[in-house]
Amino acid sequence: MPLDAAGPRLNGAKVAVVAVVGAGPAGAACAAALQAAGLAVTVFDKSRGVGGRMSTRRTRYTDAQGAEHTVHFDHGAQHVGARHAAFVQLMQAAVQAGCAVPWQPVVDGEAESPSRQRFLPVPGMPALCQHLLRGVTVQLQATVSALQRTPQGDWALTLAEHAAEPLPFDHVVLAMPPAQAAVLLAPHHAAWAEALRGVVMNPCWTLMAVSSAAPLASLTWDAQVPAAGPLAWVSRNHRRPGRATPPGCASWVAQARADWSLQHLEDDPQQVITALLAALAHSVGQPLDVHYSAVHRWRYALPAAVAAATPPAPWWDAALGLGVCGDGLGGPDVESAWLSGDALARSMLNTLPAATAR
Ligand SMILES: Cc1cc2nc3c(=O)[nH]c(=O)nc-3n(C[C@H](O)[C@H](O)[C@H](O)COP(=O)(O)OP(=O)(O)OC[C@H]3O[C@@H](n4cnc5c(N)ncnc54)[C@H](O)[C@@H]3O)c2cc1C
Repeated sequence: MPLDAAGPRLNGAKVAVVAVVGAGPAGAACAAALQAAGLAVTVFDKSRGVGGRMSTRRTRYTDAQGAEHTVHFDHGAQHVGARHAAFVQLMQAAVQAGCAVPWQPVVDGEAESPSRQRFLPVPGMPALCQHLLRGVTVQLQATVSALQRTPQGDWALTLAEHAAEPLPFDHVVLAMPPAQAAVLLAPHHAAWAEALRGVVMNPCWTLMAVSSAAPLASLTWDAQVPAAGPLAWVSRNHRRPGRATPPGCASWVAQARADWSLQHLEDDPQQVITALLAALAHSVGQPLDVHYSAVHRWRYALPAAVAAATPPAPWWDAALGLGVCGDGLGGPDVESAWLSGDALARSMLNTLPAATAR
């Protein structure tokens, strides 16, 4: 696309320039649909990779014998459930493209009901957003710290990591957890900022551990949903395709309940590791010979309830050129986040004079 001082052009017409803040499933869905319609999209994310809470941590550790190992933990979203036809289609296309596989984990000894199709991005959870964002300009380690209106009615984005001049855009999409979006929105859309501040996000302490596999040979399940105790979900992470695990070892991801996580939110991580390792051993039914352990604290893991829609979702203010999407508006999962980003893109395209015009 030819660039000139007045911005990108296609067939002589000015192309709308859009900033999408957040490279999780909502931002990736919105960016992909806008880019496919001919808009010039740049995605900004403060992290080192795309995917948001769909994340896989690559860890290196040294065992007691001094050997170095690499292990991959899916420490955020565990799998992708699909009900809505458009999302099922997207996930089937992702399977065709080799970046997801159908995934029906055995939970608590029972195969999960096939009524809801489940998928697992491969080789790690970010693969789905990487697939969506193929061909889209993405700036990583780019925290949007402020949004300003210019006298010309454009948007200027300030990046915390870059002291340079704020970057100009015609339209801005905020695709991030509600509390973070509310801060950027407050000077420009008080009603939306207030509605987002009212969305309660539950926290989640997540344990990642490696143990010897030998004593666990009789286990047949992929995941457990403990009925009581601190843990809400236990995953035998090494049974997921593509996730590196040291030979002879089992890897575990155990996610604490929201109420337990809230109660222990500011605890020392070492205390949390001790408590969650004990809960994990209890859940597995035997002591674990642990070689490695760590915790991650998700301060904003999942919305307890979604935002009251003012106006009804998706949130797009055509006059301001400002939109909001994310799971805080739709529901606590990847599918809802994707649907919210995709719907926002469609609303934007409906109100823009033409796909390529400003
Ligand atoms: C522990 C846990 C378990 C989960 N389990 C499941 C599951 O099994 N199945 C399921 O479907 N869902 C699950 N989820 C929920 C799912 O991950 C989320 O619903 C989904 O990722 C929300 O997508 P999003 O795009 O709205 O936000 P996110 O995925 O959070 O993406 C937002 C992005 O915005 C970026 N960002 C924030 N502020 C800024 C800023 N100022 N500047 C630049 N970038 C910024 C962040 O770095 C992030 O990458 C789980 C989540 C957690 C935490």
